[in-house]
Amino acid sequence: MARVYNFSAGPAVLPEEVLAQAASEMLDYQGCGMSVMEMSHRSAAFKSIIEGAEQDLRDLMGIPDNYRVLFLQGGASTQFAAIPMNLMQNKAADYIVSGSWSKKAFKEAKMYGDARCVASSEDENFSYVPDVRALELSDDADYVYICQNETIYGTVYHELPDTNGKPLVADVSSCFLSEPIDVERYGLIYGGVQKNVGPAGVTIVIVRDDLVTEDVLPGTPTMLRFKTMADNDSLYNTPPCYGIYICGLVFKWLKAQGGLEGMQKRNREKAQLLYDYLDASKLFSGTARVEDRSIMNVPFVTGSDELDAKFVAEAKKAGIENIKGHRSVGGMRASIYNAMPREGVKALVEFMEKFEAENA
Ligand SMILES: *Cc1c(COP(=O)(O)O)cnc(C)c1O
Repeated sequence: MARVYNFSAGPAVLPEEVLAQAASEMLDYQGCGMSVMEMSHRSAAFKSIIEGAEQDLRDLMGIPDNYRVLFLQGGASTQFAAIPMNLMQNKAADYIVSGSWSKKAFKEAKMYGDARCVASSEDENFSYVPDVRALELSDDADYVYICQNETIYGTVYHELPDTNGKPLVADVSSCFLSEPIDVERYGLIYGGVQKNVGPAGVTIVIVRDDLVTEDVLPGTPTMLRFKTMADNDSLYNTPPCYGIYICGLVFKWLKAQGGLEGMQKRNREKAQLLYDYLDASKLFSGTARVEDRSIMNVPFVTGSDELDAKFVAEAKKAGIENIKGHRSVGGMRASIYNAMPREGVKALVEFMEKFEAENA
């Protein structure tokens, strides 16, 4: 077996221990005589899987009782529509556009009401997070929307906007469970799990009780109503059972790693290793503004398309996979999620040093 260091932005690396456990339970889940993929979502075995997963997530994030946890399908992108459909009672919302994902969410929201862009960093190719202290929010906005970590541009909010009492809605797809957060500062937190939590196919929504209502926009499909899913404990229809099971294993793994404090410490150390090298390098440079850079996604360039391509090709031969950057930034991007071991980042930095020496 040869595992590579997988720097993919998503679907992305998962903890080896989790994959090994899933493999060992594949044919016979805890004496059931069948795999989790084959069992009824109404069975006692699955009930304990989904309830256990929710409880572990609540423990990890410190989710208060007045928040609901929903395990959904459709990816983060479906929430771009579901959020306005469920929350836009006044048909108005304020969006901060700090990258491609918030831009897409903003565009989708405009189909349902008066979504306003209150700040944007598009002027400098989303290389920074707009100043959230200078926001002019709308009085009638139903919520304020951010994408907390912009996966493509490698930026993160180090400070949340003051929303003046309006619910803050955050797409945390690429920073989910990477460090502790204060859930009570948000009205709704959501993400596709395939970046930093589990396999593609599960979207987690954590939403404050008072935002789960019957009062949704006319025409909101039953399946997209938060209330449908909340009232049925995410079992209104068949949920993505196997994906939820894997998420549950990852939650247990995270607990064993010292929870989110433990992850934060490790993630900061890993990112520091890479950023320290990038900041000192004469060949490579990071593309995100230093104050706003993410500890999850690290885009960098050499300044030459040719050298970038050479780097990506040679890295692959050295067991460093999926390091090519997104086309809107170019160059390279190292996604160093929870499950990327420190040794993986070390191997990347050593490879970069070698490449720099050879191509100076
Ligand atoms: C990947 C990503 C999405 C899109 O997720 P899907 O599950 O593919 O719809 C949305 N937001 C962010 C921040 C992402 O990284």
